[in-house]
Amino acid sequence: MSRKILEIKDLHFSFDTYAGEVQAVRGISLYLNKGETLAIVGESGCGKSVTVQTVMKLVPTPPGRLKSGKIIYCGEDITHYSQKEMQKLRGSEMSMIFQDPMTSLNPTMRIGRQITEGILKHENISPDKAKQRAIEMLAKVGIANPEKGFKRYPHQFSGGMRQRVMIAIALVCNPNVLFADEPTTALDVTTQAQILELINELKQELETSVVIITHDLGVVARTAERVAVMYAGKIVETGLSRDIFYKPKHPYTSGLLESMPSAGQVEKTLTSIKGTPPDLFAPPKGCSFAPRCKYCMNICTQTDPDEVQLENGHKVSCWLMNPQAEKRELPGRKSRLSTQKPLKEGI
Ligand code: SF4
Repeated sequence: MSRKILEIKDLHFSFDTYAGEVQAVRGISLYLNKGETLAIVGESGCGKSVTVQTVMKLVPTPPGRLKSGKIIYCGEDITHYSQKEMQKLRGSEMSMIFQDPMTSLNPTMRIGRQITEGILKHENISPDKAKQRAIEMLAKVGIANPEKGFKRYPHQFSGGMRQRVMIAIALVCNPNVLFADEPTTALDVTTQAQILELINELKQELETSVVIITHDLGVVARTAERVAVMYAGKIVETGLSRDIFYKPKHPYTSGLLESMPSAGQVEKTLTSIKGTPPDLFAPPKGCSFAPRCKYCMNICTQTDPDEVQLENGHKVSCWLMNPQAEKRELPGRKSRLSTQKPLKEGI
């Protein structure tokens, strides 16, 4: 039996604007296994959020337009599901935590009502039972005095507490898949760690599969078994976290790792990836990373590299993988992340 709970096949998604077509997602294929955490990593504007919002059908059409590709959930093709069909899935089968809890929560509604709304929509239970479930969920996500919290408004909570409430709303119907879109970006470092720990704990307890979207490789190291690195609307490298961190094969992945600070390495100079991502109104010919890549060869500016399969499901799209290319050892992380929590074991 397949372990895949979600599969995206060759997805192309664009935005039609007055200035022209923005090719936000350009042929993405990925999958999520039952019970695992997959991290999608990349700079702002690389198409990470659009990819998951396309799965959830949260992008308004127009300007968004699904050009081609397939989305398979639990073996069923949901690519062309209507909004009505998706409403049955959203919340109960798959749900999402957004990056800014203040704008995601309704400021005029009590927290309790925002949690019970989903339960009452998807399950045939009484309002009293829904209230009980909501209070239990608030307790589970670490809200002190959940009965009191149930009656409060979002502005009466701190940023970290609001994000906990968002997690409660997302998980109260026990969905199979949770999308967490930069769930800790708006939080301070201590609260970030607590929220990531909480998502991990609840994922184990509720047996949820998680897709975490982030530009922060520290978040990946703490949470994910597998990583997909996105650049300019494409996945350029994917594999187990430890392969991506210790043996990156794509210069972009290696550049991201080099620009990541690490506790204990006080003398290490942080490097940045020079240049900016390409304009997705008119993506360049050949490899999109070529203008910023220090290993760029003639062929890179002419032809897009094919995906090369390595061991353990590690896949890379880069001409350096061609047997005729000069062999390069790309810098990755050292074999231990100093004082940080160790990388999750690969599956
Ligand atoms: Fe760099 Fe060429 Fe690989 Fe692109 S294909 S990342 S330009 S080496």
